[in-house]
Amino acid sequence: MEKFDVVILGAGGMGSSALYHLARKGKRVCAIDQFNPPHDRGSSHGQTRIIRQAYYEHPNYVPLLKRSYQLWEELERESGQSLFERCGLLIAGSGESAVIRGQEACYREHDLPHEILDSEQVSSRYPGIHLHKDYMAYFDPIGGFLRVEQCIENHLLLAQQAGATLYSGETVTDWAQDGEGVVVKTNLRQIAADRLVIASGAWAAPLLQELDVTTRVIRKVLFWYLGENLIEFKLGKMPCFLVGKDDMIFYGFPAIDPWGLKVAEHTTSTDSELIDPYLLNNELTESDSQSVDTFVDEFFPKFKAKLSRHTTCMYTMTPDEHFVVDIHPNYSSVVIAAGFSGHGFKFSSVIGEILSDLAIEGITSQPIDFLGLNRFS
Ligand SMILES: Cc1cc2nc3c(=O)[nH]c(=O)nc-3n(C[C@H](O)[C@H](O)[C@H](O)COP(=O)(O)OP(=O)(O)OC[C@H]3O[C@@H](n4cnc5c(N)ncnc54)[C@H](O)[C@@H]3O)c2cc1C
Repeated sequence: MEKFDVVILGAGGMGSSALYHLARKGKRVCAIDQFNPPHDRGSSHGQTRIIRQAYYEHPNYVPLLKRSYQLWEELERESGQSLFERCGLLIAGSGESAVIRGQEACYREHDLPHEILDSEQVSSRYPGIHLHKDYMAYFDPIGGFLRVEQCIENHLLLAQQAGATLYSGETVTDWAQDGEGVVVKTNLRQIAADRLVIASGAWAAPLLQELDVTTRVIRKVLFWYLGENLIEFKLGKMPCFLVGKDDMIFYGFPAIDPWGLKVAEHTTSTDSELIDPYLLNNELTESDSQSVDTFVDEFFPKFKAKLSRHTTCMYTMTPDEHFVVDIHPNYSSVVIAAGFSGHGFKFSSVIGEILSDLAIEGITSQPIDFLGLNRFS
């Protein structure tokens, strides 16, 4: 039987970062992934992910994001690659919309840089964007996007250079607590370790259910558009955007060659549940793109957008849409990081560090009580 200090189940956004942090702390660590990460079968693919510090979802996310920013900068320095584009983020909606009210509350609580713009100021700064007359916007100058696949690639590469092992194309079929440690079985080997970190994305739903956390795995589609005057929509001319429209939230990214402008809908209230993550289907139906097509036509009327590409991805939604990051209540050797509810990637650098703290020390100095399992009991 192979022996490691820590085994990580899953090498997506969270697992790859945990592998990197544990390897840098000198631990004998391996990660096991059923696919070949970065891959397009889970929750961490599709070119880009929004990152911002002005977080209205919960005040305790802000300190985590401050550390996350530092760690992304460290990863950029260490890898010599540009992973984080600081192009700014425009958050728009009516004054009554949840995104605008949340943003207001966040800026009241946290001293973070921002500007307030009306719809005309938005159009004069970004001529490609058209906002309803009664909309307003916050511009977040320290928001932007991460190049999602490159972040994973670099976490994995640097972890391996620091001595970590990656088993890809290998499936974990079972695990069990064994004395003070764990035994993990895959289709190819058995591993004994002091600690197991479970970062299995949408595949963690049954484990969360056993712990009385009912999650919904949702299929989400990302769309890319090409159109007229593409230059006005490119990185350098456009920020990322997040727009509350009626009871929906849309978001997107400046156009990057060769796929163009990327736009998606974040809202999940009308989405049906995906029963099995292995059944994630990349076929596009007409209803998939309807709301996003309409949003693109209204928000970018000069663009005359044409769909150029799409991909499907999964959200794993917890009941309160906050993550689960905790030690397993019945098995002290097992750490769980799951249920990232469609907004976890920007945190993956700090979550990896927290998982390494929990695996090595059993405790972290980061404020993660609000992500604990006992909030559901
Ligand atoms: C469409 C979309 C848009 C998003 N936009 C944003 C955004 O703008 N900003 C943001 O911050 N977040 C965003 N998110 C959320 C973010 O991407 C996810 O929260 C995050 O990537 C989840 O990472 P993960 O490691 O939990 O899951 P994954 O990256 O899916 O990793 C889980 C891994 O576990 C492996 N695995 C599972 N079971 C097994 C097994 N038995 N054996 C071996 N391997 C196994 C899987 O193969 C997979 O590689 C978005 C998500 C989606 C889907």
